[in-house]
Amino acid sequence: MEDNCIFCKIANGEIPSATVYEDETFRAILDLSPAAKGHTLILPKAHAANLFELPDETAAKALMLAKKLGAVLKEGLHADGLNVVQNNGEAAGQTVLHFHMHLIPRYSGDTVNVGWKPGHLTDEDRDEVLKLFQK
Ligand code: AMP
Ligand code: ZN
Repeated sequence: MEDNCIFCKIANGEIPSATVYEDETFRAILDLSPAAKGHTLILPKAHAANLFELPDETAAKALMLAKKLGAVLKEGLHADGLNVVQNNGEAAGQTVLHFHMHLIPRYSGDTVNVGWKPGHLTDEDRDEVLKLFQK
């Protein structure tokens, strides 16, 4: 646990939360400021600030849990779709610096915004990025 980390305290039960799921590795809770009904957060109990700090085994389990809980939300709330969102770093919109995954039920025509304005892949950008993976 990290001092002064609210998600450490919630994940480990020191602060009460609307818990939808718990096992030895994770707690999943309802977001207090939901983008949509059922907006759920998956929190590992061990502190990791972001995806890059998360142990591989926990990362793999987190996605499996997102699949399992997401299916319950989608079916139970009759959603048309589901966003799995995970922000890393303040520049990417992360406000709580303890890894978490958002599960957001979506409905055709809803006004939830997790999108971006599509850009254009330039030849220069393509070549620069492809090179990163050739090392
Ligand atoms: P992010 O912007 O990806 O870091 O997401 C943080 C999320 O945590 C936001 O959706 C907040 O509404 C949510 N949140 C912050 N504090 C709490 C809390 N005490 N209980 C439940 N959700 C929280
Ligand atoms: Zn933490």
